[in-house]
Amino acid sequence: MNETTRVTPPVENVTIGDEIYALAAEIFPICRSIAGDGVRKTIDILSEHLPIQRHELPTGKPILDWTVPKEWSIADAYIKNSDGERVIDFQRSNLHVVNYSAPVRARMSIHELKKRVFTLPDQPDLIPYRTSFFKEEWGFCMSHRQLEALEAAGGEYEIAIESSLEAGALTWGEYLHRGDTEDEVLISTHICHPSLANDNCSGLALVTILGRELARRKTRLSYRLVFVPAAIGSIAWLATNEANLDHIKHGLVISNVGDSGGPTYKRSRRGNATIDRAVAHVLRRSERTYKLLDFFPYGYDERQYCSPGFDLPVGLLQRSQFGTYSEYHTSADNLDFINPQQLSESFRWIMQVLDILERDRKMLNLAPKGEPQLGRRGLYSGYGSGKEAMARNMAVLWVLNLSDGHHSLLNIAERADLSFDLIAAAAAALESHGLLAENSCIDGV
Ligand code: ZN
Repeated sequence: MNETTRVTPPVENVTIGDEIYALAAEIFPICRSIAGDGVRKTIDILSEHLPIQRHELPTGKPILDWTVPKEWSIADAYIKNSDGERVIDFQRSNLHVVNYSAPVRARMSIHELKKRVFTLPDQPDLIPYRTSFFKEEWGFCMSHRQLEALEAAGGEYEIAIESSLEAGALTWGEYLHRGDTEDEVLISTHICHPSLANDNCSGLALVTILGRELARRKTRLSYRLVFVPAAIGSIAWLATNEANLDHIKHGLVISNVGDSGGPTYKRSRRGNATIDRAVAHVLRRSERTYKLLDFFPYGYDERQYCSPGFDLPVGLLQRSQFGTYSEYHTSADNLDFINPQQLSESFRWIMQVLDILERDRKMLNLAPKGEPQLGRRGLYSGYGSGKEAMARNMAVLWVLNLSDGHHSLLNIAERADLSFDLIAAAAAALESHGLLAENSCIDGV
């Protein structure tokens, strides 16, 4: 291919945000639901970037207090007017059908049909996203203006939802990157929403590219990435993996990571887990208006991971908080609502958090009686040195003082109000001079 026919930018100009955006755009059109081909197709596409393993449980299998649901598939749906024109067309937007709708074929007046129609009168140009997962119903979603037009035209409408609800399987994807230890970081993202970009094509694409980047690294911790249908998928995963949950030392649910808001972090139920403190540390230094929320039992899959019988140290990281922005669960959550730069920024925050988890450890001061003479070892800058050198001095003093075997480097960074990087660099310098040694690995508990 010569220069004039090149359609993709040269590789060196493609940022990680561009890659995440392109992948989010590729999976955006798929009509996903809690179980069925949409989930499998999405995993197939993500698997082109990361060897994601597919796991399935059969319909009807009991999982905790739930049962694996039927698979939903849909070929087409429409509302036709008396001229046979499709006035509402599933092929134009998969949000037009209430997700998991039972099949239907009928003729009815707008008066009858209206009982099955969902709109947003306050946002009259947007189509809402609605579901009916645990009750066999059917329905249509449309913009309020579309409904008004149907009412104005009157007459009878021919409606069809060509869907099926049949026994099959609940599917989720999983990828394990093995580190030096069996201590695991669980990263979970939901895979059940149809064409909604921020919630959650952004999360699916970001976690996939994150996995690819982790796979290229040698890490201390192991990383388990799961792509689960919301609620029922994490319940299935927990039910299947209950015997191995002791390995999960830290966890993050990732969603809504492409919009311009946030960042927002919802703490784990424990409230003060290492993951909670690591994310807080990164967000405080993000130069953004961030929000730190205490755990509450509503939201995404952290609800299941943090249920009292499991109580895993898993928080929820988003940009704008779910449910708080006007595009949320509407047709305005499209590919214009997310962008590569914001995805890239979210990716960076997550990598910074993982970097803290990787490097956090408890050290022991090997010369704890009095301060060791730092100047002669080149570990202390004298008077007249700049602000940065003074911060480095302070980091050295804090590390020496708090490395009593009880404080981790993250604890020290918090107490000193210095960046984790500065504290970790001071610890590395002291270690190389034989003044500090690792006490024990941080187990995150
Ligand atoms: Zn959602």
